[in-house]
Amino acid sequence: TAVPRIRLNDGTSIPQLGFGVFKVDPAETERIVTDALDVGYRHLDTARIYGNEEGVGRAVAASGIPREELYVTTKLWNDDQGTASALEAFEGSLERLGLEYVDLYLIHWPVPAQDRYVDSWRTLEQIRESGRARSIGVSNFMVPHLQRLLDETDVVPAVDQIELHPAHQQPEVTEFAAEHGIEVESWGPLGQGKYPLLELPEVTEAASAHGKTSAQVVIRWHLQRGFIVFPKSNRRERMVENFDVFDFALSDDEMDRITAIEREHRLGPDPHHFG
Ligand code: NAD
Repeated sequence: TAVPRIRLNDGTSIPQLGFGVFKVDPAETERIVTDALDVGYRHLDTARIYGNEEGVGRAVAASGIPREELYVTTKLWNDDQGTASALEAFEGSLERLGLEYVDLYLIHWPVPAQDRYVDSWRTLEQIRESGRARSIGVSNFMVPHLQRLLDETDVVPAVDQIELHPAHQQPEVTEFAAEHGIEVESWGPLGQGKYPLLELPEVTEAASAHGKTSAQVVIRWHLQRGFIVFPKSNRRERMVENFDVFDFALSDDEMDRITAIEREHRLGPDPHHFG
């Protein structure tokens, strides 16, 4: 089944389901991403700080898949924020990926304490202008950080990639994003294996009703909420499972029950203070 695409505010589009490589061992990345591409994933989410851009690039090159059929995201690390430093970091990422352009380049965290995300964003605007990133966006930006970019710069971020799963849904950010045409990407969509999301009755009951797994139900919840999602797994059978989510739909009632799981339970760092 074809993966739906979401239209971004800059006129491009992104496959709604992809594959993330946070914590994928650099030494194994080429093999793991090769499996993911073979399973059918065409959207890959990496970052400079993951240390595995080279492996992603090697898998992409070896796949022989035409570049225009792939969607590759990478991210600017906190220490590289700034003007010249951001440009240099971007060029390093492109080189490690072995690509002439990325589809999406993100500021990984706002790091309000160093107060360089506005300057960094102006550099991303220039990178987009050059064609070497087709789209630009942010990650872990909360409402005040998004508001500052809207107030002080020209380009509205295409996406905000934030921690988002049924136990932490960040309604303030998602509502603000929707009002301003910013698409939301969910990181840690399955609770990172740290939160027992897949064992909650709201999830397991929907799974048995549809003859699907808990992970498939949670991925479906993200898709039906309109979020962009890229679960990670090193294991090919789970890659297959996580991609096999287009032959069923959760009912409104099942969606509402899963949405009601909200616990304001954050798994990662607090974006207001991290970095
Ligand atoms: P995730 O919620 O995708 O969890 C991955 C873990 O879930 C796996 O390691 C495994 O333990 C488990 N899992 C995967 N498939 C499963 C299945 N079918 N059944 C049971 N368990 C399963 O968490 P993630 O990897 O942190 O998030 C996804 C992607 O988001 C990352 O790989 C990365 O690309 C991105 N990310 C971004 C940020 C950021 O700050 N921007 C932070 C974290 C992750």
